[in-house]
Amino acid sequence: MGRVFNFSAGPAMLPETVLKKAAEEMLDYKGSGMSVMEMSHRSKTYEEIINGAEATLREIMNIPDNYHVLFLQGGASLQFAMVPLNLFRKSKKADYINTGSWAKKAISEAKKYGTVNVIASSEEKNFSEIPALDPGKFSKEADYFHITTNNTIEGTVFNDLPKTGEVPLVADMSSNILSEELDVTKFGLIYAGAQKNIGPAGVTVVIVRKDLVGQALPITPTMLDYKVQAENGSMYNTPPCYSVYIAKLVFEWVKAEGGVKAIGERNRMKADLLYKAIDGSKFYKAPVANPKSRSIMNVPFTLPTDELTEQFLSEAKKAGLVTLKGHRSVGGCRASIYNAMPPEGVKKLIEFMKEFEKKNAK
Ligand code: PMP
Repeated sequence: MGRVFNFSAGPAMLPETVLKKAAEEMLDYKGSGMSVMEMSHRSKTYEEIINGAEATLREIMNIPDNYHVLFLQGGASLQFAMVPLNLFRKSKKADYINTGSWAKKAISEAKKYGTVNVIASSEEKNFSEIPALDPGKFSKEADYFHITTNNTIEGTVFNDLPKTGEVPLVADMSSNILSEELDVTKFGLIYAGAQKNIGPAGVTVVIVRKDLVGQALPITPTMLDYKVQAENGSMYNTPPCYSVYIAKLVFEWVKAEGGVKAIGERNRMKADLLYKAIDGSKFYKAPVANPKSRSIMNVPFTLPTDELTEQFLSEAKKAGLVTLKGHRSVGGCRASIYNAMPPEGVKKLIEFMKEFEKKNAK
């Protein structure tokens, strides 16, 4: 079987050139006579890999020197705990916005360590939009302000970042990091699990302003203290060596593709085509109606009945368009169109959708 267009929300497609390079280097990485998986993380060769990953990420995201870049484990889910453990420094209060299933998990985890004020929520609207924010509700003494920039399950995105003044803005960017140009200096901390736009699962990227590090709660386990991780170059213990290596190849790919700006333009074009096809049809519907809230990474859509949805998914699969099932909490379909999804994949999906509609619309 040839390669399919995989619309999975994560782990997701990786660029083919990256996979080919990894395959070429599998048995003998640069004359070392071994694969990256078999190599000591303390070797010079591996040090070059992890340092190269950091340098390239800094370059493509324009990350200033007053930020640490960490490669950690435990997924974005562990950051739900690490963020409060490390950032509850003074008031032990934080503002959160509840925009979906992942935001809810972040909120419930943070509540274990301090006071969480949920200052806005779109739960009563099934998380189908980003809620309006009332800056009057932002607490000035909050230690941080947490948002989930892109809501993977619901398909929404923050297009306007909240203006939090002196309060550091913390973002779970798991599903839209590297998808568009972004000013890192607007954030105190950014975290992202790798398995969408970065690489294989197993590594989590944390970008944190240096002044926010070093005041973790006393109960913080050593491994979960950003300071310990920063002081040890993300190698306090054995890092997820192979995942970091693939992430490095992906960062190099982003650069070779023209950088985040060019990738972002391509992503917007892909998403515009898909939303246009959905909006132009009476058969498909986008649950995220407000264009301002629409994610360009995760595009949920529904069909008129569950039976038609099942039929659509099964026929799509036969056409090489796979993992289009919506999250079990939302239903319907979802096309995740991360950086590595080529425009041809989106075009093929749209053609398939049109054909399916022609055959099945009453
Ligand atoms: N946050 C968001 C926005 C996500 O999409 C996900 C997972 N897909 C997570 C957090 C949890 O990530 P992980 O599985 O890496 O813990």
